[in-house]
Amino acid sequence: MIGILAVQGDFREHEQMFRKIGVPTRRVRRAADLVGVTGLVIPGGESTTIGKLAREYGVEEEARRRYQEGTLALWGTCAGAIWLAREIEGYPDQPRLGVLDLSVARNAYGRQVESFETDLEIEGFDRPFHAIFIRAPVITRVGKGLRMLATYRGDPVFVRGERAMVTTFHPELTDDPRVHEYFARLAEEEVRAKAG
Ligand code: GLN
Repeated sequence: MIGILAVQGDFREHEQMFRKIGVPTRRVRRAADLVGVTGLVIPGGESTTIGKLAREYGVEEEARRRYQEGTLALWGTCAGAIWLAREIEGYPDQPRLGVLDLSVARNAYGRQVESFETDLEIEGFDRPFHAIFIRAPVITRVGKGLRMLATYRGDPVFVRGERAMVTTFHPELTDDPRVHEYFARLAEEEVRAKAG
């Protein structure tokens, strides 16, 4: 079962995409909602609000515990990517999960181009993916052991570790389910392997 953090942001769009590919989902608002969930999606939205509510409702603590235990895969899109990053430049106290060794700079594409669309080459995908960026963060540092699956003008925009991944763009706002399929597989395979 895939959980979608549903405290703020575009969780409904993620839900619809998983429904389209036949993957069951559950809205996650508090720690207890994570029982039976093997992959958690953190949507785009406002990362300070998402971080604050996830902490208040106990989701942050339980997601950290389950991730470290190896029974929960994570995918953050845009604001969700910020929530997963170890370092948020200029916002050291912003509440976050911080389990992926990345640094991000919020809203760093600048005013003129704060939202844009582009076709991305993604490692392992047989044709380009139409990517939508909305006031996206820039990933400014990628820790050792993480893989960059796509870059845009030299900056990483899709990065994964063993069982966590971030996209600074919004696959849930397209008609293309390939990144959702990718995460559904990651959540199945990695987590099942660990659980034995
Ligand atoms: N700019 C937002 C933030 O910093 C993220 C934008 C998004 O998720 N589309 O929280």
